[in-house]
Amino acid sequence: MALSPTFTLRDLARMNPVAALPLLDVRVPEVYERLDDVSAHDFLHSIRFPEAAHHLAFEVFSRSFFADPRRLSAAEMVLMFHIYFLGSAEGLLFDVPDEPFPAALWEPLADYLRGHGVDVRTGARVETVEPAEDGGFVVATDTTERRHDTTVLALDTEGLGSLVARSPRLADAGWRERITRLRAAPPFLVSRLWLDRPVAADRPGFLGTSGYGTLDNVSVLERWEGESARWASRTGGSVVELHAYALPERAVRDVEQKRLVEQLHRVYPETRAATVVDERHEWRADCPLFPVGGYRDRPTVRTSDPALVVAGDLVRTDLPVALMERAATSGFLAANALLERWGVRGQTLWTVPDRGRSAALRGLARLG
Ligand SMILES: Cc1cc2nc3c(=O)[nH]c(=O)nc-3n(C[C@H](O)[C@H](O)[C@H](O)COP(=O)(O)OP(=O)(O)OC[C@H]3O[C@@H](n4cnc5c(N)ncnc54)[C@H](O)[C@@H]3O)c2cc1C
Repeated sequence: MALSPTFTLRDLARMNPVAALPLLDVRVPEVYERLDDVSAHDFLHSIRFPEAAHHLAFEVFSRSFFADPRRLSAAEMVLMFHIYFLGSAEGLLFDVPDEPFPAALWEPLADYLRGHGVDVRTGARVETVEPAEDGGFVVATDTTERRHDTTVLALDTEGLGSLVARSPRLADAGWRERITRLRAAPPFLVSRLWLDRPVAADRPGFLGTSGYGTLDNVSVLERWEGESARWASRTGGSVVELHAYALPERAVRDVEQKRLVEQLHRVYPETRAATVVDERHEWRADCPLFPVGGYRDRPTVRTSDPALVVAGDLVRTDLPVALMERAATSGFLAANALLERWGVRGQTLWTVPDRGRSAALRGLARLG
């Protein structure tokens, strides 16, 4: 705060410090008991957080959950605040693969797994998972049926909901009912543009934006990704990616795509003169929504069936993690839970501290 031009002393004096105390000692799951029934918007309003800092510090989180702050649980946003700002001395580190994901991560990982005898079948949609007569599960796609001792369900919200609806004997009725109540966040758009000329030399690899219509961030891919860097050095152009999260359900695609490019022209005016030599627009709506009061319905890693576990960003864990880190962490927790059956110790997990970092601030938070 001391270093940021966004926080003035006058702004700070206007804040409601008592309402802000929960930010100082974030613990899981207590933060959900305290703040899951409040929206991110109402929580910020109660703190009287400075308007400009609001955009800087909170709206960006809220939108990175693909949700409007009025619909997002305050607990989820406060947890993010802890992970990013107050939970660790190290702060936030951005890391990205230096080649496209398939080349940098997925293909080498699949090769590694195959080397251990794993049958990787990413193109197959699972239709049903049913408990087998002799224990374990029968996992069916539209062409095959296979029996497995254990199952990890690691699907997006829609995929999990429809799979469970088609698999009426999984776990127990209460669990299945809660799964069907989970909802996906609104649609989002990722536009990648190949420009015939470069953006200005001082443009960063990633820029988060707020107040530019639906535009949430701009990446200049040749700054950090090999494939784009090779294209840019061959052609003299730039590869730019624009993200717009939490778009209206009935958004008109062409219109939104055009608007997003117009916002790029405002943020980086030199792009106005550029010709778009190629473009890709990805529309999806497969991120989980963390609505006000939704925590209770989210599945935990373990289910009532010890051989059936759940992983993914939508899973509740008792660790301060979110987004991709929650997907990966819950994946390890799921694997660890299954390995217990064979008496094998699983993966040790590291997270940022699971409480406020400073004893003095924790003491202050207890006063609230
Ligand atoms: C544009 C964008 C930017 C992001 N940026 C960041 C970031 O900077 N940092 C960060 O931490 N997170 C980020 N995220 C969020 C991150 O991508 C997610 O948190 C993460 O991918 C969640 O992983 P998951 O395994 O839970 O679900 P997913 O990645 O959605 O995987 C679920 C998989 O299940 C498959 N599936 C569904 N139904 C079936 C079925 N019946 N049979 C077989 N397979 C099925 C789907 O095809 C999908 O591959 C971003 C997300 C987006 C969209």
